[in-house]
Amino acid sequence: MTSIKAETWRENALCRQTDPELFMPDVGGSTRDARRTCMACEVRPQCLDYAVQAGEQWGVWGGLGQQELRRLIRARRAETEAA
Ligand code: SF4
Repeated sequence: MTSIKAETWRENALCRQTDPELFMPDVGGSTRDARRTCMACEVRPQCLDYAVQAGEQWGVWGGLGQQELRRLIRARRAETEAA
């Protein structure tokens, strides 16, 4: 279930104005243009928080590629388990 808060940040997502394919490249495809868009996006922090909480592991979220995102998700889970 998506929260109202999540919908609010999505309305201001800069990627809504671009080609969505940039954010879900084929294996080995470039993420450069997507990342560049993310760096100019005003809701980048909210997007990244959402991706981590939702466990999104595909595509570009909050300026991070798949490997970086997976590392961040693992680190946050480890922090939570250690707390
Ligand atoms: S940070 Fe990137 S993926 Fe997230 S909403 Fe903004 S442009 Fe889209």
